[in-house]
Amino acid sequence: MSELIRKTATEIAGLVASGETSAVEVTRAHLDRITEVDDRVRAFLHVDTEGALAAARAVDERRAAGEPLGPLAGVPVAVKDVLTTRGVPTTVGSKILEGWRPPYDATIVSRLREAGTVMLGKTNMDEFAMGSSTEYSAYGATHNPWDLGRIPGGSGGGSAAALAAYEAPLAIGSDTGGSIRQPGAVTGTVGAKPTYGGTSRYGLVAFSSSLDTPGPCARTVLDAALLHQVIGGHDPRDSTSIPAPVPDVVAAAKLGATGDLTGVRLGVVKEFSGEGAEPGVLAAFREAVETLTKLGAEIVEVSCPNFSYALPAYYLIAPSECSSNLARFDGVRFGLREGDDGNRSLEEVMSLTRDVGFGPEVKRRIMLGTYALSSGYYDAYYGQAQKVRTLITRDFTAAFERVDALISPTTPFVAFEMGARTSDPYQMYLADLFTIPTNLYGGPGISVPCGLADGLPVGLQVMAPTMADDRMYRVAAALESAVGTLTPPAL
Ligand code: GLN
Repeated sequence: MSELIRKTATEIAGLVASGETSAVEVTRAHLDRITEVDDRVRAFLHVDTEGALAAARAVDERRAAGEPLGPLAGVPVAVKDVLTTRGVPTTVGSKILEGWRPPYDATIVSRLREAGTVMLGKTNMDEFAMGSSTEYSAYGATHNPWDLGRIPGGSGGGSAAALAAYEAPLAIGSDTGGSIRQPGAVTGTVGAKPTYGGTSRYGLVAFSSSLDTPGPCARTVLDAALLHQVIGGHDPRDSTSIPAPVPDVVAAAKLGATGDLTGVRLGVVKEFSGEGAEPGVLAAFREAVETLTKLGAEIVEVSCPNFSYALPAYYLIAPSECSSNLARFDGVRFGLREGDDGNRSLEEVMSLTRDVGFGPEVKRRIMLGTYALSSGYYDAYYGQAQKVRTLITRDFTAAFERVDALISPTTPFVAFEMGARTSDPYQMYLADLFTIPTNLYGGPGISVPCGLADGLPVGLQVMAPTMADDRMYRVAAALESAVGTLTPPAL
């Protein structure tokens, strides 16, 4: 097996730029690795062998012609199947989009192409990004490379598993309630949710539009920052895109890597550092807090009392928005059409298509959201949840008057065994207990490995004020410089 698969994106880009290796060689090494392990990991829904090799050849030709190469030219990337890719299947992990080949690229995908990265394929996910384990994919579950009997987190478990299994050095995820950070934590990789509006939603199949945020996944903080820089920034095609440059996350990651956090004030969220999490997770977190202190950070305890209401508020807001967004899947416009035999009415075909095309969790959310938005209940549920959202934002604002960033464990528990939480939706929802407040507020959050519990990875979450994404990269890179990266047992 080629040693190229163990390299960071930064190292690969350097090797390609200097001509020590070619983008084609790098791409072949990763495609070989996918062939070797993906029948066990199942990170990919679609591998675009031809497209990847063509993109790699184009990079090698540009280099040979002496043309300038971008900072990630020739680096392979795995893309969560929630982003549209021109001519390449996009299913969102759902049967309802089986066979659909979008006619356009998402903005993030266009930016990846322009930067000379090489898209290897599309990664597995919980259907419509609803879930925390990737077991709700209509195409079967993804397995955690640390222990194939355990979940890789969700909804972006495919992207995180591809990184941990060395099938790709970089990946793209999307985070509505934790789907980048939670898989990062349980696979021992890095996942960053940018500020809402800091990365474009154009071409991101919508789940909950006021929360959905695409972002970078990698094995190191610097690699995540480099990817963030490439995909982020204003997009006129997304009305909620922030018209401002991406904070200098790369410089911040490099500064953090010096291991000096002198003058940085970090708030430990009181409500998230005590009960509710596994003892092993709490122990690893406490050790990481000590490490951060040794690096010079000042640690302050901060109370965010409304964070305890984040989970129920999220499970009204997200299903409400999804019930509206998923109305477009009607058997007419895209993908699957069921029962169109010439004898059935339009309504019957729509109903049959949605019955066959959506899985149980998606149906549960559509029903919940439709109910919460119905007249007579709107104020009691959706309206109330929006008020809670405001209170959570106030908690963040008050906290950031005292500290530069907040820290907590990323998840309450390490990767659980497959099947352990599928029969009880509430147990599954708890996986995002610590990540959801950030989504409701709209700020950035990152998960970085902070140690092991029972031999499985634990993540530390850093949350920063909106548009201060650079701050979280500095803290995460400093912790990484002390803790190091985590390597799973050989597959
Ligand atoms: N697990 C959460 C949910 O099921 C978050 C998902 C996400 O961030 N896409 O909704």
